[in-house]
Amino acid sequence: MERIACRGIVVDIEGTTSAARHVYEVLFPYARAHMRDWLAAHGSEPETAGAVAEVASSIGADPGDLDAVTAQLIRWIDDDVKAAPLKTIQGLIWEEGYARGELTSHMFDDVPPALRAWKEAGFVLAVYSSGSVAAQQALVANAPQGDLRPLFTGYFDITTAGAKRDSSSYRRIAVSLGMDAAHLLFLSDIQAELDAAREAGWQTVGLLREGETQATATAEPTVASFDDIEVVPA
Ligand SMILES: [Mg+2]
Repeated sequence: MERIACRGIVVDIEGTTSAARHVYEVLFPYARAHMRDWLAAHGSEPETAGAVAEVASSIGADPGDLDAVTAQLIRWIDDDVKAAPLKTIQGLIWEEGYARGELTSHMFDDVPPALRAWKEAGFVLAVYSSGSVAAQQALVANAPQGDLRPLFTGYFDITTAGAKRDSSSYRRIAVSLGMDAAHLLFLSDIQAELDAAREAGWQTVGLLREGETQATATAEPTVASFDDIEVVPA
């Protein structure tokens, strides 16, 4: 059991609150399967049209060439390229998938009870993930354990806070939450992110969950589940 004195807790998503494989085995294939039909049905709506124009210009294609645009977006999905127009379109496709009840997000079972207890005890909770804020909110809203949005005060992504391995991102989040870095705890499965948070003066706990093979957290403290974290008010 790791005992941490803090006031705010910021959580990573993939590998920390949720299984990375859910993204690769459920969300990416869903976006790939619905991509062309989505573009055909929503291509004239401003948000989609803007993203399509960006994709088309990046490959020198006509924005009306749905085959070429679809092929490029699917290439980015397959190569896991963090391209802004892809993130936008994927977010919209997933939102519809959640609304239709065709998609559920993933959250490890130890996470919602821990978050609820921390929230009730007065801790401020926030999310920091490289997925867009809209995608984070959709994931939290559609957790299999219920809508967890009431638990979170803030959401941060790479466009609002900066890169996850950059200590200045954690300084920015602390300012935005109005809290001292020393009163903040960051939970992540990636050591480089934990190091960046520590450099900014935060406390950290690494997550090493069973089956999450991409996890790199090596420096102590590390835990296998949120059940092994005890927070007390600083
Ligand atoms: Mg992660």
